[in-house]
Amino acid sequence: MKILPARTQKARGVPLSLLPVFLLVLCVMGSMALVADRATRRQETFELDREKRQLAQSLAIESENLLVGLARDEGLGELFQAHRNRDLVERLLSSLNRRQATDFVILINKADGEILAEAGESDVLTRRRLLAHSLIDSSRLRGLDSSTIGIGREARLLQDGQGIISMAMLPIGRSIILVATRPVGATTLRRLSTVLGIPELRLVNGTPAQPTSYPVSGFGDTPPMSLVWTPSRAPAETLVDLGIFGLLASVSVAIIAVALFRRMRASTEAILMREAKASHDARHDPLSGLPNRAVFCESLAQSIEDLPNHDTSVAVLLLDLDKFKDVNDTFGHAAGDKVIIDFGNRVRALLRQTDVIARLGGDEFAVLLTSVRSHNEVTRLAQAVIDAANRPFVMDGVTMRIGVTVGISFAPDDGLEVAAVLRAADTALYRAKNEGRNRFALYEHRMTENERIRKLVDDELRGAIDRDELALVYQPQVFADSGKIASVEALVRWRHPLHGLISPATFISAAEERGLIVPLGEWVMKRACLDAKRWPGLRVGVNVSAIQFRHPDFVTDVGRILSDAGLEPGRLELELTEGVLVEDEDHAEAGMMELRSLGVKLALDDFGTGYSSLIYLRRFAFDKIKIDKSFLDSMEATGESAILVHSVVHLGRALGLEVTAEGVETEEQRRFLQAVGCHFLQGYLFSKPVSADAIDEMLRIQNQGIGETSPKTAA
Ligand code: C2E
Ligand code: CA
Ligand code: CA
Repeated sequence: MKILPARTQKARGVPLSLLPVFLLVLCVMGSMALVADRATRRQETFELDREKRQLAQSLAIESENLLVGLARDEGLGELFQAHRNRDLVERLLSSLNRRQATDFVILINKADGEILAEAGESDVLTRRRLLAHSLIDSSRLRGLDSSTIGIGREARLLQDGQGIISMAMLPIGRSIILVATRPVGATTLRRLSTVLGIPELRLVNGTPAQPTSYPVSGFGDTPPMSLVWTPSRAPAETLVDLGIFGLLASVSVAIIAVALFRRMRASTEAILMREAKASHDARHDPLSGLPNRAVFCESLAQSIEDLPNHDTSVAVLLLDLDKFKDVNDTFGHAAGDKVIIDFGNRVRALLRQTDVIARLGGDEFAVLLTSVRSHNEVTRLAQAVIDAANRPFVMDGVTMRIGVTVGISFAPDDGLEVAAVLRAADTALYRAKNEGRNRFALYEHRMTENERIRKLVDDELRGAIDRDELALVYQPQVFADSGKIASVEALVRWRHPLHGLISPATFISAAEERGLIVPLGEWVMKRACLDAKRWPGLRVGVNVSAIQFRHPDFVTDVGRILSDAGLEPGRLELELTEGVLVEDEDHAEAGMMELRSLGVKLALDDFGTGYSSLIYLRRFAFDKIKIDKSFLDSMEATGESAILVHSVVHLGRALGLEVTAEGVETEEQRRFLQAVGCHFLQGYLFSKPVSADAIDEMLRIQNQGIGETSPKTAA
C-alpha cells in the first residue's frame, strides 16, 4: 500500500543544505587567513625596512655624535669643526679602507687633518699603545715621541656600510692624534638594541641569508660583517591573534548559523508536517488510516493511464463486509471499529507494495491491483481476502464473525474510465451478493439488464419513494358474465428519470431484500385508497408482500390508512400470497382475523403456484382466490389443467369464495372460465393495467352504457 512516502525525503535533505553554510564559513576563514597573511608579510617587510632605516639613521647619528663628541673632548675642536661635515670622515674612511685589517690605527695631523701614518692589525685596540709606538717608530715622523701618547677616551663610531665601528682617539703631543678602531662592542649593540627596539642586535661575520641583517663590512676587503637581530614578531603575533579571533568569530558565526538553520529547519519541518498531516487527513479515512475514495479514484485513473499496450491489466476489487451491521448492533461501535481496522490490516498484509487498499466508507473497501497478468492471480487474492474476513475477530475476549463479498472488474477489459471500471466491479459485487454473499464474482459483459436494474433498485429505490417517482396503474377485473368492471388491481410502476418505466417484477423482490417493501407498500396502499374514492362501488385490490404482512404494525397501518383516506374498508381487497402463510401460520391467521375485523377483504393471489393451496383455503378466511396465469397457460397445452381449473373453481365456489382468473388473454379462455363458473376475469383481453384516469374513462363509457370495456394499451 502507498501511504505518504514524499515528506520524509525533505528531512533527509536537510544536512545537505548545511553544506553551503559550511563552505561559506570555510571560504570566509580561508580568505581572511590569506588577507591576514599577506598583510603580515607586508607588515613584516615594512617593519624590516623600518628597522634597517632606523639602524642606518642611528648609525649615522651615532657617528656624527661620536665625531662631535670626540672633537669636543679631545680638544680637536678646530680640526673637527673645520671638517664637521663628512669630509674628515670620508678621508679617514678612504684611508682606512685601503688597509687590509679589521682593526686599524691611523695618525692624523690635528692641524690640517692630514693622515700621517696608518697601520692595521687585528685586535689593535688591546695593543694599541704598542701599535702606536711601532707606528710612530716606523714612521717618517721620527721626531715624535711615543711616550707622549696620552690616554684618550675611547669612543665608538658606527658608520653605515663603512666598517668603522668603534674608534678611540689618542692624542699624541699637541698636533697628532692616533685614531684606533675596532668592531663595535657589546655595550653599544645593547644600547642600540634598546633605543631602536631591535631585539638581540649582534655582530656576526659574513652576510647571513636572513633578512634581518645589515651589512657593516669590515675594513677594506676584509670579510664583511653584519649586524643581525631577531625579526620582530609583532605582525605574526598579530596574525596569530587575528587568526584566533577570526577562528573564534568564524566558529561563533558557524554555531549561530547552524542554530538558526536548525531553528528554521525545525519550523519548516513543523509546517511541512502540519501540511502533510492536513493533506493526509483529507485523503485518508481517519478510522483505518487507509486512503479514501478520492485517493483510490486518483490511483485508479493513474494506473489506467499508465497501462501498457499489452499483457497486463489493472484489477479493481470492491469489498463489502457481510454481517457488519450485526457486529455493530450486537457488540457496539467500538467492536465495529475494531473489525474495520483489523480487516483493513489483514487485507493490506495480502497486498504488494504497489497495490492500493482504500476504505470507501462504511463497510466498503476497494483494492487496486496493477500489473495483473492473469485473472487467476486476482481471484486467488479475492479468495484470500474472503478467508481473511472469515477468520474470527476478537475484542475483549469476544469473538466476532463477518464475511466479505467481492466484486471484481478489470481495465482495460471492462472499461477505460474510472467510473466504468468501478461500475463494473459494483455490478459484479451485486451479483456476488445475490448469489449468497461471502464470495467473489467477476464482472461479465453478459451480466443482464435485469441485474443492472436490480442494482439500480438497490441504489435508488428509497430515493424514488421520496421523489415521488412511483406511480400506480390499475387493471380491471370484470364480471365473467357481463364483462363490466367489478374491481381494479393496483400495480406499482417506477418511472425512473433515466431508465424509464421499471416493472415491479424487477424491483419488488429487491425492495423486500433491502427492507424497502414496507415504505413502498404503505405508499401503494395510501395511493390506491385515495384513488379508489374516485370509483364509488368499486373494490381496489392491493398486493401485499409477505414481509410487509409480517410487519408488526401492518394491521394498524392498514386501519390508519383507510381512515386517513376515508375509504370504507370493504372496498379494500388485500392480495396475499401463500408466502404470507407458510412461515408462521398462527401469526398469519391472527393477522388475517384482525384485518377481517377491520372489514378489509382478503384474496389469495397466485393460487396454484404454491404447494398446499387447498389446505390454506380451508384454514384461512379468504374472500377470494385468484387463479394464477400459469394455470391458464398450461391449460392450453393439456386437457388436465382444464380439469384442474374446473375443480378449483368448483371448490372455491363450494367454500363460498369468489374466484378470479388472472391473465386471461383469449376469447377461448374467457369462454371456458365463464363456462366453469369463474366469477371474475382479469387479463389483457379486457385491459392491460392503465392509469387511474384511463379507469375513469372506462367507467364513464361503461356507465353511459355505450359498450363493454375493450382492450387498452398498457401503461
Ligand atoms: P400479480 O399480482 O400476479 O399481478 C398481475 C401481473 O400480471 C401484473 O404484472 C399484470 O400486468 C400481469 N398481467 C395481467 N394480465 C395479464 C395478461 O393477460 N397477460 C400477461 N402476460 N400478464 C398479465 P405486473 O404489473 O408486472 O406485476 C407483477 C407482479 O408484481 C404482480 O403480480 C405482483 O405480485 C407484484 N406487484 C405489483 N404491484 C405490487 C405492489 O404494489 N405491491 C406488491 N407487494 N407487489 C406488487
Ligand atoms: Ca396480484
Ligand atoms: Ca398473480
